Amino acid sequence: MIIILGGGLTGLTSAYQLEKNRKNYLLFEKENVLGGLCRSVEKNGFVFDYTGHFLHFSEEQRSVKDFVFNLLKNDLLKIHRNAKIYTKYSETKDKLLPYPYQANIKFLSKEIRKNCLLQLLNSQLLLKTKKIFNFEDYLIKNFGSKITKYFFKPYNEKLWKEKIYNITTSWAKKFVPIPDLEEILDSFLKKRLKDYGYNTYFYYPKNYGIQKLIDEIKSRLNNKKILTSLEVIKIDYKKKEIFFKHGNTYHTIKYDKLISTIPLPELLKITNFSSQIKNVSYNLKYSSVLCFNIVLNKPVLKGIHWIYFPDKDVIFYRLGCYHNISKFLVLPNYGSLYVEVGFKKNQKYDENKIFNQVVKDLIKTKIIFSEKQIVFYDILKIPYAYVIYDFYKDKVVPYILKFLKKNDIYSIGRYGEWKYSYMTENIQDAINTVNIL
Ligand SMILES: Cc1cc2nc3c(=O)[nH]c(=O)nc-3n(C[C@H](O)[C@H](O)[C@H](O)COP(=O)(O)OP(=O)(O)OC[C@H]3O[C@@H](n4cnc5c(N)ncnc54)[C@H](O)[C@@H]3O)c2cc1C
Repeated sequence: MIIILGGGLTGLTSAYQLEKNRKNYLLFEKENVLGGLCRSVEKNGFVFDYTGHFLHFSEEQRSVKDFVFNLLKNDLLKIHRNAKIYTKYSETKDKLLPYPYQANIKFLSKEIRKNCLLQLLNSQLLLKTKKIFNFEDYLIKNFGSKITKYFFKPYNEKLWKEKIYNITTSWAKKFVPIPDLEEILDSFLKKRLKDYGYNTYFYYPKNYGIQKLIDEIKSRLNNKKILTSLEVIKIDYKKKEIFFKHGNTYHTIKYDKLISTIPLPELLKITNFSSQIKNVSYNLKYSSVLCFNIVLNKPVLKGIHWIYFPDKDVIFYRLGCYHNISKFLVLPNYGSLYVEVGFKKNQKYDENKIFNQVVKDLIKTKIIFSEKQIVFYDILKIPYAYVIYDFYKDKVVPYILKFLKKNDIYSIGRYGEWKYSYMTENIQDAINTVNIL
């Protein structure tokens, strides 16, 4: 018997693969709905995700692309990214710089533009041998000190809620690729740039939110094996048993292999490991996100999908426009935004105060002109949002994952493997894991 913990995308894809291979399994999900972070919520005719959830496929992900396309048939929109960066240093009228920053410094104000380019060339030509110890070194060596100062440092510190010199580079090459000098120079000389970055196109369900993907997987599974509203509260890894509560009684089930997609710190806390291993869970860092879904009486930001906000004096680090993604997410002639605010792990906050600040900053950045434009809003909480790649995580997590595997526990997915990853990678994680069981 294989037990799966968690009914998000990773858990459900694992179930799908196990069913295909005719293996015996049971999936436990603590919530009364499936989907985890790939859920969508419907309110007054509007559909919200847990902030924008878009499908990106890399060249190597052929089989994952086939998997998603087979599930959703042709019901997918292919969208050409239109992302911006809000910066007070932009010379554009709306202060919106096209994304990515390093390819668009020609739009910055004169002095800043000169400094950014000078330091970028300096770093590329003179810092070739500079040793890299942390993410700050990585940025300065590859982008120069000014682009780091004006964009990467404030944006990343806002997102991670951690100083960038405490962050390692083990994740960086994939998400912050090293710039190509020729492309940077082209960005000054040519009017039109070729597409830049790894996610220039993305996909999204045509007729609903991202939960459509979850619904399609679920419809292909044996319902009796997918158990919702059942939280696994204890694991005995020596006896290979999980414990859960149903009504007023406790139950136990034996497993041969366990696929866990719940956050790694939670798994360590509920399993009867030594106190040394349990302690790891308290030292792993992550950030949380509050997602404000805000409906407006008319659409704003024509054609823009999302905007990054590096500046410290704006509370949110990113916002996106559901109405520019798919007409199925909004009622005609309305606007709908997701606005993301980051917090440190376990940080206390007052939702109303944060919302008031969000509104003030939407007005300050001229996204809206008055509070009266807001028809209603809804808050979605993401307690585990971004795993923080500090030196402790890089050292300890590989060891923990290896130890778990030795004991037939496969901890996978974005939070199970404790990594910065996205949906298509998590589908791949599930396929790879089931293949080796
Ligand atoms: C702000 C934000 C924006 C994102 N945007 C994108 C994007 O645009 N594109 C993209 O590809 N990816 C995006 N992602 C990443 C994406 O959400 C994840 O990669 C993916 O949803 C992870 O799925 P999962 O199944 O591994 O984890 P989860 O979705 O977290 O699922 C884990 C499940 O385990 C359940 N669970 C927890 N504890 C227990 C327990 N004890 N017993 C039983 N069940 C339990 C939870 O309820 C949950 O349903 C984003 C993530 C964040 C935070």
